[in-house]
Amino acid sequence: SAKADGRGRWALHDPSRDEAEITRFALSAAMPAAIEREEFFVLYQPLVAMGDHGMRGVEALVRWHHPQLGVLGPGRFIGLAEETGAIVALGHWVLARACRDARCWYDEFGDAAPFVSVNVAPRQLHEPALLGEVEQVLADTGLPPRLLQIELTERALTTDEGAPLKALDGLRELGVKIAIDDFGTGYSNLSYLRKLPVDVIKLDGSFGERLRDEEVTNTVDERIVGTLVDLGHALGMTVCAEGVETGAQAGRLRRLGCDEGQGWHFAAALPREDIREILAHPDVRSWPGPEDAFASSVS
Ligand code: C2E
Ligand code: MG
Ligand code: MG
Ligand code: MG
Repeated sequence: SAKADGRGRWALHDPSRDEAEITRFALSAAMPAAIEREEFFVLYQPLVAMGDHGMRGVEALVRWHHPQLGVLGPGRFIGLAEETGAIVALGHWVLARACRDARCWYDEFGDAAPFVSVNVAPRQLHEPALLGEVEQVLADTGLPPRLLQIELTERALTTDEGAPLKALDGLRELGVKIAIDDFGTGYSNLSYLRKLPVDVIKLDGSFGERLRDEEVTNTVDERIVGTLVDLGHALGMTVCAEGVETGAQAGRLRRLGCDEGQGWHFAAALPREDIREILAHPDVRSWPGPEDAFASSVS
């Protein structure tokens, strides 16, 4: 430890940590102007039906094309944006962008167009303006509300009782779908979950992880996933598995009852032009494969 080596607490000084702090500070300071300058962009990852591999929806995943640092994944800036409050402006921008793109697919492909699923941070849910904002964006873009889904983490739903529930009810009344993201990583209590107006649970990728390899048959992990799927279905929800990376895993998740899947086995997060291409050529074999995942899915 620092004390034991006789140099006192100053031995804890770590220049690389300073650098990280400075980067964090610079990134949070730069964010408001970067939103104005449209340095952010959105990729869309297909949400695929387990049965026929049809693209039912897409998840909007934000990226930051930083002029000096290159393309940054949300892991680098979403937490910061939540701390500074910039998430409210950024979230609004992502929502508007996603609804505009979804409206274009709807105009061109009608009923074959995917719904768009947008991540909403806890902080946004506690903004009383969220509901009005969603209503306004739907009106401005002309996107049918059923083609919008909002993803919330358990964390967003379990911090406070009244406010989030009211916002959820309002969204539901608009006809917008609601999904619980990263399900199973938080502390949802079952009686609370039962009361929530939720349409979809997205099983966190960590559950499917050990179902990935062909050779390994892990009955405990399979039973856990099966139980969570049954729980979702008992609550009348659709179950989507995140992080599906292999065919073996997709097969197991399908047999365990998952309705939808998302992951590099099906498709990476893609630019909107690629989603349009998929819709124009609805043959799953022509989808951009996992090789592209590493190019377009920066974290
Ligand atoms: P998430 O909502 O759980 O999104 C899924 C993440 O898993 C994405 O990471 C996606 O690229 C990644 N992923 C997709 N397929 C696979 C796979 O087969 N294997 C593995 N290991 N990972 C896969 P990404 O794009 O880096 O986003 C990370 C998180 O950042 C998201 O997790 C979400 O919580 C947050 N995020 C992204 N966009 C937004 C946004 O617009 N607003 C807010 N508030 N949060 C966002
Ligand atoms: Mg999500
Ligand atoms: Mg997720
Ligand atoms: Mg996740």
